[in-house]
Amino acid sequence: MNKELNDDIYFMRQALVEAQAAYDADEVPIGAVVVCGGVIVGRGHNLTEQLGDVTAHAEMQAITAAANTLGGKYLVDCTLYVTVEPCLMCAGAIGWSQLRRVVFGAPDVKRGYVCQTSRSPFHPKAVVVSGVLEEECSSLMRKFFCSKR
Ligand SMILES: [Zn+2]
Repeated sequence: MNKELNDDIYFMRQALVEAQAAYDADEVPIGAVVVCGGVIVGRGHNLTEQLGDVTAHAEMQAITAAANTLGGKYLVDCTLYVTVEPCLMCAGAIGWSQLRRVVFGAPDVKRGYVCQTSRSPFHPKAVVVSGVLEEECSSLMRKFFCSKR
């Protein structure tokens, strides 16, 4: 297995740890980490119930945390790992932060940005990788929504 894929799986597992924390708190189980130079500089999970804030998505938490850690608002040299395809709002935030690499696990055919935009909301040079640990990422979502119905 090549190193990049190994790294992607390792950091996606860290995003899954965040997603599990959301699940345990009865939040929609999505987690994210921001990695810079092989180090996690920001992490977060969905907090919309706890904060009573519809914008408190995992990606928003992780991006804000990473900017605080790095002391600058742009995340040019960073990779964002998120367990589920970002929504339009988060995709916009990813674009504003100038993240150059985005890795996500499961697709979100209903609310994901892919079906809702004709051109990428990300930085023009951003590389997108999808389907990393897709089954684990989506099964946590299925488990959560099954328990709700
Ligand atoms: Zn979002």
